[in-house]
Amino acid sequence: MRTIPKCETCHAQEAIWAWHPFGPGEDHCFTTLGSHYRGWIVIKVCDECKNQIEDGLPMNFVVHGKQMIGNRSSDILEIPDYVGDSLLFWEMGGK
Ligand SMILES: [Zn+2]
Repeated sequence: MRTIPKCETCHAQEAIWAWHPFGPGEDHCFTTLGSHYRGWIVIKVCDECKNQIEDGLPMNFVVHGKQMIGNRSSDILEIPDYVGDSLLFWEMGGK
């Protein structure tokens, strides 16, 4: 039985898009789930959240257990338990 992935920003609806908040594109980047870019952080989002991201609304999401708030231009607005540049770099380039 296949599990339907839940949206990682609203946690309510079915995720159908893979959002790459950190690239590889210069702007926000969406692909369908399964055809996402390997090696880049993927946030699974539903259609509604994708629209909100495209409207420029900041979204909550979790990367490697850390809460982040970012918008479509990949600006990380707030990382409450942020510990430093090196870790973020490691996470962004990781894998
Ligand atoms: Zn959603």
